[in-house]
Amino acid sequence: MRLSYSAISTYQVCPMQYKFRYVDKMPALPSPAISFGRSLHEALRWFYDVPTPDPPSLEELIDYLETCWISEGYASPEEEAKYFFHAMSVLHVFYKTNIEDFRIPLALEQSFLVDLDFCELSGVIDRLDKRETGEIEIIDYKTNRRVPPSNKLYEDLQLPIYHIATIQTWDLTPDMVTFYYLIPNHRHTIKVTNEWLSKAVETIRKVVTRIEAEIFDPRENALCPWCDYLDDCPLMRNKLISKKSSEPPDMEIGMVVDELISLKKRIPGMLRRAQGLEKILRAYLYDRRINAVAGSSGIVSLDRSGNICVVHETGSTEIESENG
Ligand code: SF4
Repeated sequence: MRLSYSAISTYQVCPMQYKFRYVDKMPALPSPAISFGRSLHEALRWFYDVPTPDPPSLEELIDYLETCWISEGYASPEEEAKYFFHAMSVLHVFYKTNIEDFRIPLALEQSFLVDLDFCELSGVIDRLDKRETGEIEIIDYKTNRRVPPSNKLYEDLQLPIYHIATIQTWDLTPDMVTFYYLIPNHRHTIKVTNEWLSKAVETIRKVVTRIEAEIFDPRENALCPWCDYLDDCPLMRNKLISKKSSEPPDMEIGMVVDELISLKKRIPGMLRRAQGLEKILRAYLYDRRINAVAGSSGIVSLDRSGNICVVHETGSTEIESENG
């Protein structure tokens, strides 16, 4: 069996999503997040891919971002422009932070195939650096908005897989592995221990065993609303059907919520205004000793207790009669 890191991580989140994508080969839908991430990765690959240690200028980097920009998956030109300007600002900060230490990496966007006896692991390492100190560092760019808590990073299999790949592919033992979170401009560097590696290999073995046994149960999680297979997922399809059946037939439920909130906000003000208008009308009717008056859309009159009543619609302007 050959697996990539993303396949393993997809299985860990939801085995059924893994089945849709990697067994049934149902393609993932294009999305702003994917296009944004791939464009930034390509721009940074280009930035470091130079024959001599003279880095491209910031302007050249931004020009290249425009050249390699992936336009698919955006809902509108406005949304795409927003993401493009965000990518520009991310590269700007990256450039200012890293330009002083610019050096040509040992490897860039390097594919690998690792043999673990019980399966093969494939993947691509974003960057492999040799630091000034001589230490070997694997760097993986991330385009998440937030840095996950450290305990989650230790559960992630990506860095241990890259560590093993570097040993098998280049016969080099990395001294450290780094997740570079581009959006918050934060590097999280970890030293890989043998204990961590053995634990990671055991986790991969368990995933492989379950895939071989064809265990593909759906696992509801926080990312379900963004799942590409929401309509095909038996678990979520049932939930969506029962949710839809309680919705009004011709309105988006969001519009119903918004209208209700807007009405609730307006009611107290409207009641106060109506009471004020009734006061004016009552004074007008008493003053003129009449018991009804008309507007262009209807008539209001005084009942026996002196309350204002709205009556039928009329086209007339004013009705005057003696009180009593
Ligand atoms: S909708 Fe959720 S439970 Fe269903 S396949 Fe996707 S991730 Fe899994």
